Amino acid sequence: AGCPQWVPQPDVAARARELGERFERAYGRAPAGVWAAPGRANLMGEYIDFSGGMCLPFAHQYVTLTAAAPRTDGVLRALSLQDADESVADHRLRETRVAQIAPGGISGWFGYAAGVAWGMNRVAAGASAHPVAVPELTLPAEFGADLMVDSTVPIGAGLASSAALECSVALALHSLHTGEDDPDDAHRRALARACMDAENYIVGANTGGLDQTASLRSHAGEMIALDCRDFDATHLPADPSAAGLTWLAVDTRAPHRLADGQYSSRRDECEAAAAVLGVARLRDALPEHPTEDDAATVLEHFDALVSSGAALRGNPEGVRLRLRHSLTEMVRSVRIADQLSSPDPDWSLVGRLLVAGHESMRRDCQVTVPELDAAVTACLDAGALGAKVVGGGFGGSVIALAPADDVEALAASVCGSFAEHGFRDPLFLTLIPSPAGRRVR
Ligand code: ADP
Ligand code: MG
Repeated sequence: AGCPQWVPQPDVAARARELGERFERAYGRAPAGVWAAPGRANLMGEYIDFSGGMCLPFAHQYVTLTAAAPRTDGVLRALSLQDADESVADHRLRETRVAQIAPGGISGWFGYAAGVAWGMNRVAAGASAHPVAVPELTLPAEFGADLMVDSTVPIGAGLASSAALECSVALALHSLHTGEDDPDDAHRRALARACMDAENYIVGANTGGLDQTASLRSHAGEMIALDCRDFDATHLPADPSAAGLTWLAVDTRAPHRLADGQYSSRRDECEAAAAVLGVARLRDALPEHPTEDDAATVLEHFDALVSSGAALRGNPEGVRLRLRHSLTEMVRSVRIADQLSSPDPDWSLVGRLLVAGHESMRRDCQVTVPELDAAVTACLDAGALGAKVVGGGFGGSVIALAPADDVEALAASVCGSFAEHGFRDPLFLTLIPSPAGRRVR
């Protein structure tokens, strides 16, 4: 198909209509409705959510849709148009009793969907780390549903198709259960926790709640400044179009390499650094509004403690690099949030902070791959104000802050660089900060 190839803008209304029709053909009855929830990008705050840092996600316009109809026999059934196990013409129906959903019990993609029902009951019971029990989330024993899922979010591209899937299912189940199509922020917060529990415990994937928060709590044109100490969300303008700029994503399509265990080893190293510093989590080592000087001071303090013989778990060099990434990343998040809170943001400074964030992910967090580094370099060469990896790295996407008139030139530059390196052709998307999940039909 040649390079550059652009992922088309999703026509959500048309997809919802078609999904309703397919649902009716598959299940022999019409759905009660169709709910959609978006994926996300993240401007800063990688690998610091578990340390209580601030993340800056925004929901983008690519959504996953879930058509749903209620059942009264405690059974949950689901089909996905992106079910990788089967051809599109012959989807495999997945089925479980809601009461039987448990960690380790459900394989493959269905864990993301079924896990949400389990997570809702867990949050309702107050068993989750969610701060308050939300009893009305409890699904009655007879509660069940038929679901059909269709995603416009590229899957496995670091743009949070997994959260989009969970969150669209959560909105569907919550609405079937309560009749509420537009839950308030307290309920969205509880549903985000249920989705996070689904991914952590039923799928068994580590995720800090950033993706689910963005998918369920975003506002159009804004990003969330998410304080991961308490999941308080502040909404800040993040639409650069008035300055002639746009958010460009490059899905590198790089194969995931070496990713197994890497997330938890980064997390362990951050916890080891916190132990040396004598704080519960790294965010507590910095003042409320940290600066670069504060980050440098904490790093010097760490070095002094280590050279005076403080016990350190793990590889000292790795722990120090992860500490430096965490501290500087926390400062970069605050600096970007400061810019976007101002009436006249300095977008070139935001761009430089993005580049510094990528460099820290490469050098200190050590989670980039050659495709990510090449995409960032090619975007900058072609005039981007900044660019960085989105999400956990080891493949996935880059987000660039680009002059709106130059996106074709940026894409051509990335294509040229990828061809030279012998990488797979990437895909391109322009991302628009978009509202949270909602009922669409
Ligand atoms: P990302 O969230 O960045 O896209 P993840 O690895 O976290 O990447 O999640 C991708 C996984 O989510 C897929 O392997 C699949 O199991 C599941 N998934 C996402 N969207 C769908 C969908 N529409 N249908 C079936 N499974 C999906
Ligand atoms: Mg994901």
